[in-house]
Amino acid sequence: MSLECTYCKGELKNGQVSIHGTFGGFMLFGLSHQNLYFKSDSGKEIKILGSTISTPALRCENCGVVILNKTIDSQRPREILNEILTVTASKELQESIMKANPEANIQDEIEKMWVDFYSPQATEFKESFTSDELVFLSEFNDLIASKNWKEIEAVADAKIDSIVVN
Ligand SMILES: [Zn+2]
Repeated sequence: MSLECTYCKGELKNGQVSIHGTFGGFMLFGLSHQNLYFKSDSGKEIKILGSTISTPALRCENCGVVILNKTIDSQRPREILNEILTVTASKELQESIMKANPEANIQDEIEKMWVDFYSPQATEFKESFTSDELVFLSEFNDLIASKNWKEIEAVADAKIDSIVVN
């Protein structure tokens, strides 16, 4: 018994959908470009999949429609923080991203990643960091909001080595 495509009534095949980051992709397109986003016609953009995460999916071999069974974004908060601080602290990385994407505004992209990431009320978020780190994150959140990028980059550079990803 197989499922039927809503669009063309073709047969849906089980599989997985994922986005694979490569080191080259990281250098060329930056981390935020490795995520899959969904933007509704009227609503705001939401992140569907982070890089290297996969999710069960169904694909119609007739018309090509893909249905994602999105359960939970399992990328760990510490990994995400590490990615954000890495891009924020590295001028070389930012320059190579801008070279490949002249239209991209790195600071806007970093701010967008941060807003997606920073969720101090969420249990998983709180459990991922020590109380000292949570204090730092709250201060860094205020700093991002101030858009003082010189200071933001300096703080990210000073902090990055202490954020150990297990
Ligand atoms: Zn179909």
